[in-house]
Amino acid sequence: MEDRKTLGTTYDPKEFEKRLYDKWMEMGVFTPKVNKEKKPYTIVMPPPNITGKLHMGHALDLTLQDMIIRYKRMQGFEALWLPGEDHASIATEVRVENELLKQGIVKKEIGREAFLEKVWEWSDEYRERIREQIKKMGSSCDFTREAFTMDENLSKAVRTVFVKLYDEGLIYRGNRMTNWCPKCTTALSNAEIEYKESEGSLWHFKYPLTDGSGYITIATTRPETMLGDTAVAVNPDDDRYKALVGKTLMLPLMDKQIPIVADSYVDVEFGTGCVKITPAHDPNDYLVGERHNLPSVNVLDDHGRINSNGGKYAGLDRYEARKLIVKDMEALGLLESIKPHLHNLSTHDRCGTAIEPLISKQWYVKMEPLAIPALEAVRNKDTKFVPERFEKTYFNWMENIEDWCISRQLWWGHRIPVWYCDACGDTIASIDTPHSCPKCGSEKLREEEDVLDTWFSSALWPFSTLGWPDKTEDLEYFYPTSTLVTGYDIIFFWVARMVFSGLYNMKETPFDTVFIHGIVRDSEGRKMSKSLGNGVDPLETIDEFGADALRFMLVSGNAPGNDIRFYPERVEAARNFANKIWNASRFVLMNLDGELLEKYKESRSYSLADRWILSRLNSLVSDVTANLDRFELGVALQKVYDFLWNELCDWYIELIKPVFYNGTDEEKGTSFNVIRNVLIAGLKLLHPVMPFITEEIYSHLSEDATIVTAAWPQSDETLVDLATERNMNAVIEAIRSIRNLRQEMNVPSSRKSKLSILPQEGMGEAFVMATDYLKKLAFADEVELVTAEPDGKNNVAVVTGDARIFIPLLDLIDRDKEIERLKKEEEKLMKEIVRVTSKLTNEKFISKAPQSVIDEEKEKGAKYEAMIQSVRDRIESLS
Ligand SMILES: [Zn+2]
Ligand SMILES: [Zn+2]
Repeated sequence: MEDRKTLGTTYDPKEFEKRLYDKWMEMGVFTPKVNKEKKPYTIVMPPPNITGKLHMGHALDLTLQDMIIRYKRMQGFEALWLPGEDHASIATEVRVENELLKQGIVKKEIGREAFLEKVWEWSDEYRERIREQIKKMGSSCDFTREAFTMDENLSKAVRTVFVKLYDEGLIYRGNRMTNWCPKCTTALSNAEIEYKESEGSLWHFKYPLTDGSGYITIATTRPETMLGDTAVAVNPDDDRYKALVGKTLMLPLMDKQIPIVADSYVDVEFGTGCVKITPAHDPNDYLVGERHNLPSVNVLDDHGRINSNGGKYAGLDRYEARKLIVKDMEALGLLESIKPHLHNLSTHDRCGTAIEPLISKQWYVKMEPLAIPALEAVRNKDTKFVPERFEKTYFNWMENIEDWCISRQLWWGHRIPVWYCDACGDTIASIDTPHSCPKCGSEKLREEEDVLDTWFSSALWPFSTLGWPDKTEDLEYFYPTSTLVTGYDIIFFWVARMVFSGLYNMKETPFDTVFIHGIVRDSEGRKMSKSLGNGVDPLETIDEFGADALRFMLVSGNAPGNDIRFYPERVEAARNFANKIWNASRFVLMNLDGELLEKYKESRSYSLADRWILSRLNSLVSDVTANLDRFELGVALQKVYDFLWNELCDWYIELIKPVFYNGTDEEKGTSFNVIRNVLIAGLKLLHPVMPFITEEIYSHLSEDATIVTAAWPQSDETLVDLATERNMNAVIEAIRSIRNLRQEMNVPSSRKSKLSILPQEGMGEAFVMATDYLKKLAFADEVELVTAEPDGKNNVAVVTGDARIFIPLLDLIDRDKEIERLKKEEEKLMKEIVRVTSKLTNEKFISKAPQSVIDEEKEKGAKYEAMIQSVRDRIESLS
């Protein structure tokens, strides 16, 4: 135990946060063992991308996970929080490519191998930075088990899954319509598309009939695609065009004949009822093309430029070509009109570039067979969502799932483990690099160039990090994991994919519970973003206020699934709270007497205040434990905060100060033990949110080496004493009201006065027992219980829910002022009564609120009614 007198004079988190984290690392307290005698509790950390530094969203994510894992660790679980980082294929490749460009290095020029070397350098540097930031937050994760999606073992897991899926026919390669990003020059999955409302134009073009009998009008938002038109379609039931089906049109600018086909896909009501068909550049046109055997003409290259199929426009960027085509059509007299058009533009979520749908050869995972068990697992509650409403997001995506495009035309990532034999045309999927073709023996094998979608490896995270495909002890013990903590924005990117991957490879869902949190917004409710410049750097906040204060702010007021707002002043308030705990602890530590502590260890001669604080503590322990088990982290913290700040610091310590100074040895020894035990329990309850300050104070109070592995407090029901709680509440309310009154009247605390208390029925004893507290904290020189209002007209009256208290102070103010004060009091009470009544007559409230809440409101109403009556009586007697 640290010397109890040495707790620093001021709360200075910089002095101890790093020191304590180093101590924990040295002690190895975050590293659980495989211990069959104990139950595991596992959380895998959503791996941050190695693209940059951690932002406030990460800080929230880390804090919530740490709060849960620290709580479980104290409850005696072998608690594993497994940290790691994600290689973030496309995001990192784009970042490094841009960084290199600044140095005049062009990715394509230096080649694949040299480029990858640069990315590995980047990755080492950024992983180290991220690791340091995770530590600064106080995260109690096990760095001895840290993982990286590009680690050898995790890469082996990726290849193993790929080959298994391929062998079972669940992975195929095909020419399909894909989302293509011309900036990143890669295919993308549907999940990576972001729809942005955009103001574009709708161009109406005339296409002449080849027989010279006129023309028909089509509308398009992408004029350049007309270069690849291979038909115009009309609805077969559209009387306007029935006669035209089977005729041909001359495709302007290309001088090519294209047919008019009938297809029910065309909406008669929309536009002119004629639709140009570009099978190579629109997913719907692609299907029409297949039905009518239309050729598919690709007119774009990988960078979004017109290719050689585009005639004289070849080589132009798609937007330049668009301008020129419109101009040329106008010159030909074939531009009918241009109308402004609001539409949903598909863009790449990483770079914002408009997506080009085009046909290309890509690798896909067949999703339907994988989605069925994944839907079952959540329907059966093998995996539960907290809050439950996010199941809908999950179901919605899983039920409408399309095959997953997993190939990316990038270099950084897991290379698809496929080789092609040029001699016999065989395709070989293999975990290890093959040396020759198993079919023809040729050694001329060509390795697939593409890498896998970055989510392919993160989908395996809950088991690849534990050693799979090897059968490790860790895997057997810690899988399935207990809780996944993540934001609602990656439910389908990640959560859904982990669920079907876990079921497919491990036959067991990867987690029991998915705890969803919202995002961190600024104080005005806006998303934090680079372009708004409203992001707050968690490290700067830690520097100013300490990690504990930041963590406190992120948890307080947090409700599962909801966004939170970041208020700098609330971090400051959290720091003030830490400061208050610090000062109170310091006061306690300076007064505790070791000998008396020891001598009266078993003493049960509790004072009223002792019984009260012990009862409050034990009620609190069961409440907070229940809240934490339901993931109501914000509610749990609020209760701990209220207890420590109000009940412990503001009241209990004040109530026992006279004992500290003037009590008998037994009184002192008893109170010393109570305050020490209550403070220790309070620190333990606070520890999951504020690990540093609680450890620092605990090390001065307890013999334990650390609070990290200390046992979570158990509620002792024999100490819960509701009558005492009720009595003390009455006394506290009385003291508070008397002090308020004296303050309003500017009565100096040196002026003592008599209190005549007229209690409500049954409350008399409470005030008798509390005489000493009333004298000390309500500045009384005498306390008497009366059965009727005392005669003297010199009294002012304080009305609480449990008593009327008369104090002879009226000589300090005049009677009219006192009446005025009471009238204000009456007004205040009237407002409260109106509020309660309107609540209790509100059907919505009555039908939704639990009975206990309704009863509580009714009780309040009755209390206010009694109080207002007392105030009115008093006004009358003064008038
Ligand atoms: Zn892009
Ligand atoms: Zn071969």
